[in-house]
Amino acid sequence: MPDPKRRKDIKEKEFLGFAKSYLSEAFPNPQRNGCPRDSELTRMAEHPNETAHASVSQHLTRCSPCFNRYMELLAELKTRKAK
Ligand SMILES: [Zn+2]
Repeated sequence: MPDPKRRKDIKEKEFLGFAKSYLSEAFPNPQRNGCPRDSELTRMAEHPNETAHASVSQHLTRCSPCFNRYMELLAELKTRKAK
């Protein structure tokens, strides 16, 4: 039985997980309209810079294919660093 009092105790991780699964499907963009180049996503994953990548990071919140690609790049970076 889940304890109802714990419901409001939403962990940040759970929220991020929700945002991830939501963003990865909410905005299909088969035409890839307005998508940044893959090299730009790579650069942002490697050297995130809020000013330089403002438009790209904003695009990620509106485009599921790019969001998924970016998540992939981040995961790749992480495994590369772990080695
Ligand atoms: Zn896109």
